[in-house]
Amino acid sequence: MRCLVTGGAGFLGSHLCERLLNDGHEVLCLDNYFTGRLQNIAHLRDNRNFELIRHDVTEPILLEVDRIFNLACPASPIHYQFNPVKTIKTSVMGAINMLGLAKRVHARILQASTSEVYGDPAVHPQKEDYWGNVNPIGIRSCYDEGKRVAETLFMDYHRQNNVDIRIVRIFNTYGPRMLMNDGRVVSNFIVQALRNEDLTIYGDGTQTRSFCYVDDLIEAFVRMMDQNEIIGPVNVGNPGEFTMLELAQAVLELTGSKSKIVYQPLPGDDPKMRRPDISLAKKALGWEPKVQLRDGLQKTIEYFKTIV
Ligand code: NAD
Ligand code: UDP
Repeated sequence: MRCLVTGGAGFLGSHLCERLLNDGHEVLCLDNYFTGRLQNIAHLRDNRNFELIRHDVTEPILLEVDRIFNLACPASPIHYQFNPVKTIKTSVMGAINMLGLAKRVHARILQASTSEVYGDPAVHPQKEDYWGNVNPIGIRSCYDEGKRVAETLFMDYHRQNNVDIRIVRIFNTYGPRMLMNDGRVVSNFIVQALRNEDLTIYGDGTQTRSFCYVDDLIEAFVRMMDQNEIIGPVNVGNPGEFTMLELAQAVLELTGSKSKIVYQPLPGDDPKMRRPDISLAKKALGWEPKVQLRDGLQKTIEYFKTIV
């Protein structure tokens, strides 16, 4: 099949392009290089089934494809808050443009949605039928609300125009090719530890997240796209839940770093806890994550050692 991956030069997108090529598909990698990098896909460029398109999803584009994976959107708070209006445009106009394309060429289209649609959740762990607790006017809203509208658009194109959609709600995912300066907690802690700099915990470090290794996540994407039973939304993530203090201690131990932990103010609207209920993914996709946090951290540390 000919697969379009928007945001294909980013962290998750580059792993997805690689997987789709390995599975024998043609891949069109579309990116505007806001947070993506040519380096992430440099090793794929000689593959004759791989094609690069420099394009911004806020603009329409005409392509002939069988499948669309819509990943284009900055994912880390510092990047999506850099130009919040652009972030909303990317989620909303990007969804409209890609759904319009899917409708025209009858392609199946998957949306990379997020656990952020649950906001600062009042229900724990989060199940797909929970509607969330999202601040519409805070500093994370450009991302959270943009992704929520994108889900609405996907459902409405499905109901109104019969577009063949899939929605996955991704919980915090980490691994090689995260940007060093991307501000997300796993990359921050690893880079700080490798440089023997202080590890910066925001708040008191009791807030929790559930971290999924990238290979597990890509497997869920592929299974979701390949099956015909459900359109989603489906939670994909690792239900292992850790405080940021536990994460910092694990990184210090695995790197053998001399760094100290320092505490900095908690950013606005930072969710207190997050853990996916993945019973739907287990049942419908036969999927659950296989990589434990310490193993995934070790692989990610090895990657960062080559570039720090
Ligand atoms: P990333 O920032 O590495 O990748 C995003 C990619 O989209 C980059 O290559 C960027 O250049 C590109 N992009 C941004 N705006 C664009 C635009 N207007 N037009 C074209 N390309 C554009 O982040 P990631 O972690 O790989 O995230 C990929 C997707 O998965 C995002 O949609 C994100 O919201 C979603 N997601 C990721 C996580 C996670 O933990 N990694 C969690 C939830 C959801
Ligand atoms: N965080 C932290 N130190 C850092 C970066 C992030 O303590 O250097 C915290 C952040 O406040 C949040 C958690 O780690 O509570 C996860 O942050 P990230 O930006 O990775 O993801 P998100 O908040 O979007 O889930």
